[in-house]
Amino acid sequence: MRDLSTGPRVLLKRLRELMAEALEPQERLDRIVREIASNMVAEVCSVYVLRADGVLELYATEGLNPDAVHLAQLKMGQGLVGTIAASAQPLSLSDAQAHPAFRYLPETGEEIYHSFLGVPILRTGRSLGVLVVQNKAQRNYREDEVEALETTAMVLAEMIATGELKKITRPGLELDLTRPVTIDGDGYSEGIGLGHVVLHEPRIVVTNLLNEDSDTEIRRLAEAIGSLRLSIDDMLSRREISMEGEHREVLETYRMFAHDQGWVRRMEEAIRNGLTAEAAVEKVQSDTKARMIRLTDPYLRERMHDFDDLANRLLRQLTGFSPNSASENFPHDAIIFARAMGAAELLDYPRVNLRGLVLEEGAVTSHVVIVARAMGIAIVGQAAGAVALAENGDAVIIDGDDGKVHLRPMVDLQKAYEEKVRLRARRQEQFRALRDVEPLTRDGQRITLQMNAGLLVDLPQLEESGAEGIGLFRTELQFMISSSMPKGDEQEAFYRSVVRQAGGRPVTFRTLDIGGDKVVSYFRSQEEENPALGWRAIRLSLDRPGLLRTQLRALLKAASGAELKMMVPMVTEVAELRAVWELMQKEVQHLSKFGHVLPKKLQFGAMLEVPSLMWQLDELMEEVDFVSVGSNDLFQFMMAVDRGNARVSDRFDVLGKPFLRILRDIVRAAARNKTALTLCGEMGGKPLTAMALIGLGFRSLSISPTGIGPVKAMLLGLDADRLHQMLDAALDDVKDTGSVREMLKRFADEEGIPL
Ligand code: PEP
Ligand code: MG
Repeated sequence: MRDLSTGPRVLLKRLRELMAEALEPQERLDRIVREIASNMVAEVCSVYVLRADGVLELYATEGLNPDAVHLAQLKMGQGLVGTIAASAQPLSLSDAQAHPAFRYLPETGEEIYHSFLGVPILRTGRSLGVLVVQNKAQRNYREDEVEALETTAMVLAEMIATGELKKITRPGLELDLTRPVTIDGDGYSEGIGLGHVVLHEPRIVVTNLLNEDSDTEIRRLAEAIGSLRLSIDDMLSRREISMEGEHREVLETYRMFAHDQGWVRRMEEAIRNGLTAEAAVEKVQSDTKARMIRLTDPYLRERMHDFDDLANRLLRQLTGFSPNSASENFPHDAIIFARAMGAAELLDYPRVNLRGLVLEEGAVTSHVVIVARAMGIAIVGQAAGAVALAENGDAVIIDGDDGKVHLRPMVDLQKAYEEKVRLRARRQEQFRALRDVEPLTRDGQRITLQMNAGLLVDLPQLEESGAEGIGLFRTELQFMISSSMPKGDEQEAFYRSVVRQAGGRPVTFRTLDIGGDKVVSYFRSQEEENPALGWRAIRLSLDRPGLLRTQLRALLKAASGAELKMMVPMVTEVAELRAVWELMQKEVQHLSKFGHVLPKKLQFGAMLEVPSLMWQLDELMEEVDFVSVGSNDLFQFMMAVDRGNARVSDRFDVLGKPFLRILRDIVRAAARNKTALTLCGEMGGKPLTAMALIGLGFRSLSISPTGIGPVKAMLLGLDADRLHQMLDAALDDVKDTGSVREMLKRFADEEGIPL
């Protein structure tokens, strides 16, 4: 075999010419294998392409029996070719037939060839096929020959990825690249998203594979690596990063990789074999990824992501790519795919075009998920491998109810989901028709329906849902999505925008409820064993009076000349409320001293979510203008079940008698004290549980905007007094302590109430 140190350059040049020629795909492939065989002085060169059914089919050959093309096939993992595809590793053998995986395909006539060299055709670490050369004589292929064949395989990967081979794929069969896949993840937000993939960090498609001059490319690579190292150092020296432990760790890893000599050497080698600098980065990235994808160690897999991110950065440096240039062809039905992303990055996308979000990582409580939920889009998290499997523009369905991502779905599945979406839309239409209908029960009880919110993206929902106001504004969300603590004037400006956009409808601001599952990265406190019972919400605010006073001042200023309604979360003792009230008075005095216009009315409330308040109800109601029941936390603490732990959170029923009796006691205390009462937990947002609350005597609910329509449809058909009689009797019945869920369903059924 000829010395290949100059060989690949000549070969790649020939391949480039072949790629540019106007040829039919089979002809192009045939000429490519002929070129490779001749250049590498091999008697055989064959290309196997992976089909969607997991079979590797011979697509072209020089040397083997030409009649075997499109007939000879091996399953993934079967024979030498299948082994290479499955392991994504090259295989070099001087006596192929002696290898245990060797499988004889009589139609090919390959028995006379002894030596065998096969490499995977890789794209983003996935095997798309296998490229093989064979020789009659027994020989050992050298390292540089393996490298040269791998480089050549990149040209084939490109050809497969462009879809050119579709034309020569037998009817009824598909290539693996376009195979439908379903990825199992976790549903983070209900709903179905139908649309097309937008990769958050678009893969840079390197089309310019073959270089003119290796020295120039090596220089380009060196410059790009230099800038990459500088940009990492720069990020590390920024103050806000140096404060944050986790980010710092990631950047330190990047820096380590960026200085890795082995990485640089492998890329230089690929350039010497004829690739451009960007193609060399891509090749080494794909090889490394192919190896690491198969790792099971979570730590090493995490490092693989870091390495992948770094290679992408380097590609961007080399191609001068900026993400904005991708937004021109932004689909009208975008489903964003990301490994992880920041909340602000999601807000940069055009809201009207977003249909869903797929994250490889993330948690229900991560900021981006909070924002995406506020936007009302379907979300699937923990979707392992989603980014590598998807291509920009692929059709996709995401099911936020079941936590599934269907990539390139089959027609039947697509149709079934379209029908589901149509049904939902029709129901939505019916609810919209109720938007301006007054929420009166059949027996004339007026129910106030407000919505919960926490970000500006929520505000348009006021108009769309017909909510009468915002009964719970979670102010901590602004803190959770910022990278540093929002200053007083930023808070004030934010609250002002909220009030302005609410357009005269009341807004109840809740003071900061951070801690527990509401994590604020720049506000690190000590690790806690039981954060839900720890230093959080009002406890934290009272220990950091500066923080609370800044917020109170911002609220007072934002509501200047209007009404300010605010409430305090996680109150355990009435004394805490008094302490907040005192700080409030200080702020009022301070502002009036400096001539600020104060709110013309102040309504001060408490959230009832800690059980201890059940035995201070009269004192509590004496102290405040209104009480808002936080049923999420009240249920969690009453039943001792972690609301974020799916294993226990659904174990007990909110419609069980113990919890309903507690709620009835609250209703009675509010009536006795003539204190306004509302409820702002999830329980109010579903028709059946909302019906129970109205039956108990609640006349005001604050719920998620999507719940307003269904709850209103329910209450319009409800005789509240009749339900009250029945429910009261059931709760008084001491012989049966079970849930009233079935009884309520029967009642709704008999009365024709839509649930
Ligand atoms: C609640 O606990 O019911 C509540 C409304 O507050 P959050 O869900 O924000 O804790
Ligand atoms: Mg709460």
